[in-house]
Amino acid sequence: MSLHNLKKILGEARRHKYGILASPVFNFDSAEALLSAAEEKDSPIIIMISDPMQKKYGYFNFQCLIGPLLEMAKGSPVPVVLHLDHGSGYENIMRYIEAGLTSVMISGDRDLDKNMEDAKKIVCAAHKYDVTVEGEVGLIEGEGGLEGTADRASSGEDIKKSYTDPHEAKAFVEYTGVDALAVSVGTSHGYFKSAPSIDFGLISILSRIPDVSLVVHGASGLEVSDYREMVKRGIIKFNYYTGLINAASQEARSCLCSNGEVSFTECNWRSLKAIKEKAKWLMDIFGSSGKAIRK
Ligand SMILES: [Zn+2]
Repeated sequence: MSLHNLKKILGEARRHKYGILASPVFNFDSAEALLSAAEEKDSPIIIMISDPMQKKYGYFNFQCLIGPLLEMAKGSPVPVVLHLDHGSGYENIMRYIEAGLTSVMISGDRDLDKNMEDAKKIVCAAHKYDVTVEGEVGLIEGEGGLEGTADRASSGEDIKKSYTDPHEAKAFVEYTGVDALAVSVGTSHGYFKSAPSIDFGLISILSRIPDVSLVVHGASGLEVSDYREMVKRGIIKFNYYTGLINAASQEARSCLCSNGEVSFTECNWRSLKAIKEKAKWLMDIFGSSGKAIRK
């Protein structure tokens, strides 16, 4: 079976020093685009349902989407994690767990004590289902779990104020027992107003916290050398969405400018192909190509 929680997939990536692409899907087509990219690259993949996206668009009952996604994942030759992105609220997150997701994120609260208590409660419940949990310490600017918009973009200076404190992160991991930790090291959800500056030294310090895999959100738009350095320093899971959906949007725009020569069907197909090709490129950059484990 190809459906896994985060533990084995991220553990393997930590041992062999590569990163894994994690991206939200919003329908079967977008899931298919990511999954086929992973299969062509023989790479593990983390497919996410975004809680904020479900709430914002409200056009799809997530339970209708999860059933077929589970079947797609189980039938895939590569390891797949079905993960909840930016979940909030105990009952709400439990709905996703009971629906069959293998991993969940609980968005961080700005109050560290509340953040710890909320995360610990989810970890206790989730682990009984063999579901892994991603917590968050430090504020990652922008709107999590959604595509970015220019007016929500952050400047490099804004981002620096909310970097993850290593002492808080260590205490959080020890207290809650989370399997993965989203950290603020210079990235931001959505677009950047100015080129981001990644604090690589901070990543190295955070990577010394035992028994947890580090995650960056808002990974779109960085230099290739940044991704490689982040992997080298200990980032394992890359939440990347804006860049993928931009690739699709650009392709759709060029179809719409074709004076009606391109049908909606072809426009849709080309846009999804753009997501797939970008995902394949990222798998090469993160180093996960050829790393699918089948045990
Ligand atoms: Zn996020």
